[in-house]
Amino acid sequence: MNFGKEEIFRAGDKFRGYTIERLLGNGSLGAVYLVRHELLDAVYAMKILFPSVAKENDSYVKRFLREAKIATRIRHPNLVAVHDCGFDTERGLYYLVMDYVNGGDLRQALAFAGRFEPDRAVEVVMQVASALEAAQKLGVVHRDIKPENIMIQPDGVVKLVDLGIAKSAVIKDSLNTSTESVFGTPAYVAPEQAIDAAQVDARADIYSLGVVLFEMIAGCQPFQGPNAPQILAQTLSDDPFPDIRDFNPEVKPLLAVLIRRMCVKEKERRIAGPAALLEEFGKLGYKLASIASVRVQYAQDAESAPTHRSVKAVLDRLPKNRRDTLSFDTEDVEIKRFVDSLKRRKFIRKFCVGLFAALGVAVTVVSMVLTMGIVR
Ligand code: ADP
Ligand code: MG
Repeated sequence: MNFGKEEIFRAGDKFRGYTIERLLGNGSLGAVYLVRHELLDAVYAMKILFPSVAKENDSYVKRFLREAKIATRIRHPNLVAVHDCGFDTERGLYYLVMDYVNGGDLRQALAFAGRFEPDRAVEVVMQVASALEAAQKLGVVHRDIKPENIMIQPDGVVKLVDLGIAKSAVIKDSLNTSTESVFGTPAYVAPEQAIDAAQVDARADIYSLGVVLFEMIAGCQPFQGPNAPQILAQTLSDDPFPDIRDFNPEVKPLLAVLIRRMCVKEKERRIAGPAALLEEFGKLGYKLASIASVRVQYAQDAESAPTHRSVKAVLDRLPKNRRDTLSFDTEDVEIKRFVDSLKRRKFIRKFCVGLFAALGVAVTVVSMVLTMGIVR
């Protein structure tokens, strides 16, 4: 199916309490606009189902509404939150309001970088797995994990998008999934999903995510072919999934093994789901954490700024579980640790001030930025 671009809004148009700022992108079923809520003065992304699509086939409307329903039920920092959804009778438009992700997708990032350092790739994949873990608790399988659906904010936080073809055990609707194009995307689709898309479970997402991880580290997809049928033939063949070390010998053997275990062709032998995957990363020493980058200012009468070594010496005296990875520049202190609540934020402020006080230096915290990443 290929519906042409339809101009639905122009910049400055008003719609349901929002002002349209600009078109963010056209998808297969609709257009996404950057909008500003007039009263809240906050920006969101608004997805509009192309009117021609809505008219063409009722199942697209159902898919659109289902995406909204599923997304509102799962709240997770790595999943784009949906706030509102409806049908505007005046203009005859289905719309959906979600968080605006300021940043590009992983496809663009890969085009720019060629490939990622393995640690950075794991950082992205663990965040996707974390979102999938929340989805799995509701019986939701994404079914279309690919770089285009993984957005990366400038602060490094990853947002998984597009639950449009997700399968939900909780949300029942009359959508006949076997006639839907729930096929996924050839290069990323698990063998069992390629055979019968209606029968997939969380393991299909693990396979797709493994292909994404492979591609990020290798700089190319595991199966290459001139067209979709040839890529699928390799996916479905009995040949084992390729070893990433043949593409990038610098990958640590244990990580290479894990990627292969994500992409075992027989789903029975594959990593069982997102929670199990996060556990496996944990065994390799990766832990997903919020990272606080704290910027401090020395009090005016501070005689000398502390050195990296002196700060580290204080840290080493902390109990092991409280010891943080710390990078230290003249004014920036980056503390890597879980920051899972507001209380934690206050704690980190205090911790930072206390740390310097122990060195005999008075500081004030001027700002703190929270990002997400891995600690090892
Ligand atoms: P598709 O149907 O091709 O998956 P979508 O309808 O999901 O596409 O989105 C179309 C485009 O709009 C995306 O490629 C992306 O650039 C942009 N987009 C979608 N959702 C958001 C969002 N929440 N924040 C910012 N941009 C978005
Ligand atoms: Mg999309």
